[in-house]
Formats: sequence, C-alpha cells, structure tokens
Amino acid sequence: MPDKVHTKYLLNEDEMPKAWYNVVPDLPKPPAPVLHPGTKQPVGPDDLAPLFPMALIMQEVSADRYIEIPEPIRAVYRQWRPSPLFRARQLEKALDTPARIYYKYEGVSPAGSHKPNTAVAQAWYNKQEGVKKIVTETGAGQWGSSLAMAGAFFGIEVEVFMVKVSYNQKPYRRHMMETFGATVHASPSELTDAGKGILAKDPGNLGSLGIAISEAVEMVAKSGGKAKYSLGSVLNHVLLHQTIIGEESLLQMAQADDYPDVVIGCVGGGSNMAGLVFPFVGEARRKGLKTRFLAAEPMACPSLTKGIYAYDFGDTVGMTPLVKMHTLGHDFMPAGIHAGGLRYHGMSPLISLLHDEGIVEAQAYYQRACFEAGVKFARTEGIIPAPESTHAICAALEEAEAAKREGKERVILFNLSGHGHFDMASYDAYFSGKLEDYEYPSEAVDAAQHRLPSVG
Ligand SMILES: *Cc1c(COP(=O)(O)O)cnc(C)c1O
Repeated sequence: MPDKVHTKYLLNEDEMPKAWYNVVPDLPKPPAPVLHPGTKQPVGPDDLAPLFPMALIMQEVSADRYIEIPEPIRAVYRQWRPSPLFRARQLEKALDTPARIYYKYEGVSPAGSHKPNTAVAQAWYNKQEGVKKIVTETGAGQWGSSLAMAGAFFGIEVEVFMVKVSYNQKPYRRHMMETFGATVHASPSELTDAGKGILAKDPGNLGSLGIAISEAVEMVAKSGGKAKYSLGSVLNHVLLHQTIIGEESLLQMAQADDYPDVVIGCVGGGSNMAGLVFPFVGEARRKGLKTRFLAAEPMACPSLTKGIYAYDFGDTVGMTPLVKMHTLGHDFMPAGIHAGGLRYHGMSPLISLLHDEGIVEAQAYYQRACFEAGVKFARTEGIIPAPESTHAICAALEEAEAAKREGKERVILFNLSGHGHFDMASYDAYFSGKLEDYEYPSEAVDAAQHRLPSVG
C-alpha cells in the first residue's frame, strides 16, 4: 500500500548512495564504438586524452555496473543532496486523477538544476590530474553556471562560450557565471577559427550549441595541453554522474511504499533523464519489470522522434569524435522563436541505443502546451519549473489524464530537472501571447541526412 501521509520523501546525508550506476552492462547490446573524425576508426583512450582527464575517459568506456563516488565529491554533493522526492498531492487533486504522481526535484542545487551533479565530479577529476583551466560551452547558461560554481569550489579557471542569442537575451545566468569567477564569451566569437569562419559567412549568426562546442574544443586543442574540455550532457560519463538522482529515487520510492509504472524525463542531450531513469532501467532489465520509460522533447528540436540514428559530429564544424546517436544533423540551427530550451542537435548515444531498442519511448511536445503544464504545476505545487522541465511535466499530465480516462491507477515519476527563476522572461512571453508553436520540418531532417559524415 502506498504511503497515505507524506508529501515529501527525504534521505539523511548518510543514506546518500555511495556509487553511480552505469547502465552499460544492462544494455541489450554493447554501445557502438566512438570514431575518430579523421580516420573514422574507433578511438582509444589516448585519442581523447587532449580533451579530458584520464579518469573521466575510463568512466566513458567503463563496463562496471557501479562506480564509487569519491568522498570529496560526496562532501560537495551533501551541500544539497540527497534531493527531495515529492508526491504531487495538490496537482493530483487538481487533475482529479487516479494516478499517483511523484517528482524528484533537482532545483535545490545552488545553481538551480541537476547539472552540478556532473560539474562537481568533472571539476574534481580535472583537479586531481593537475588541470588549471576548463573550457566549455553553454546554451541558456545552466551548464556554464554549474561548471563555474564547481571551478570556484576546486580552484580551477573556467572559460565559457555562451550561445549569442542567450548571451544577449539572458544576462542573469551570465552574471551568475561571472560571480563564480568564470570568463564568458558570446559565441560565435572572433577568438577561434570556428567562430571567425561562421561570422565571415553570416555576420548576424546568433549561435548554437554545436558552434559553441566547436569553439570550446578548438580553444582546448590550441592550448598546448594547458586546458581541458568539459561537456554538460550527452557523454556516458556525464550521464553516469547524474545517476545519483535515480539511485536516491529508488530508495525514496521504497520509503513511499510505491513503484513507478512510468518514469519520465525531458531530454536535451539526455543527462537528467538518464540520471533518473537508468537505475530503474537496470532494475527492470534484471528483474523483468514492465516499467515504461518516456523521453519528452520539444517539437522544435525533435532529435529522438524525428532524428536519424547515425554517426554524427557532436559539434557544428566537425572537430569532435563521431558518435552514433539520434541527430538532426550537426549544422542544425535552432529556431529563434523556441523558448523552451533543449536545443541540441544530437542525443546521448546511450539513450539513443535504448530508444532504438524500444526500451525508451519518446514523445515531442509543442512549447505552449509545455508552458501551460508548467503554469498548472506552479499553481498547484508552488515551484516554477525551468522551461526544459515543463516538457516532463507535460508528459506526466498526459499520463495522468490517460489513467483518468481508463479509470485505472498509474504511478508516474518524473524528474523536475530545475527551477525557472532565471527564465521568467520566457514565462512573460508565454503570458503575453508571443510564443508560437513550431514544429521542426521533416524535410529539414531529410536534407540533413545527406550532410552526415560517411563512415564507410
Ligand atoms: C540543461 C538542462 C536540461 C537539458 O539537458 P539534459 O542533459 O537533457 O538533461 C534540462 N533541464 C534543465 C533544468 C537544464 O538545465
């Protein structure tokens, strides 16, 4: 019987899981190899060494089911972890649904999202290997502010290429990065050949995550070994660090005497969804459970629902290794009218594989429906969600409505990946009717297919 009394499930600091969970041994087949962008041959750890510290490279290729979280990382996690898991009792009441809705809240971190779970780990491993500077990209600034904070904790310099449209329109996250001591550039910039090349062709280019990644990787490649690169999503080691979310949630669902029928996350590169979902995927595969897993993405950037499952670059210019993933093409430019975040052309290879195998379902949502769901959530649960997180809420509301239609119980668990306190301009745009629904056209995906790198 599910618990009848409680609204939130809290773990003590000493109950915080001591290991991250790696889904690789529980996959139906091994992940496709990562290929060198020049030779198209599988890369080895040494090929990646200019970009990442060796400890993270070894995590990237690990097949161990559990990887211990070093105590100094757990010490920082304890500042906001374990994070709460809530039963959305007020939302359930408003929906008049037989479904039981739970959400794991990652907005309690100092930066306001799940991203510090990996930022802290990445900064610590870099520090262990003597790295003095980390270069990265950021879209709206959630990732940049998380890494800037982690860099400040461990005394590492952080330099951030921020997508220009956000740099201009969302100054608060930039100020946050600067408060933590990071240097922030609007991307495309004149600081790199990648940026200069794009500005020469298109001086008004407002940037994309793919372009900002090209700039960050180029700066690291030219640093003569002085700097390393860091990515806030997509890669296996990033998803690994996020599984603290799901490992805690397994314990908290047990506290609630309940178990999810469907586990939901919004997906940009896939890290917060994987963080919540993968530990449940592992249980389902090992115990033969029928749990469903649902990835919620925007209609404006539908990597899983419309993208091609193929090898592609992680960046726009073509400097990163090739990974097999769902992609809209590395030259994807997000639509300016899309305010809901989640604008990356690719998708985590691990989530892509699980989607291709039919284990992870995907659904795309229009941005106005997402904001409507976010407002409903704010008015019942009191937390104003990040625009990204509203996609997961939208999916959860659909599941709750389906339960009501069928007159059946359904246990829904979703990840509330962050709060929206720095995104109130997007809410304002929604309320004043300035947001348009936009669907990325299939023709654009078909055209991108021909520009994908050929891997023979
Ligand atoms: C960055 C971000 C996302 C999307 O990234 P994923 O790697 O797919 O999790 C989702 N929600 C919030 C609040 C974010 O900051």
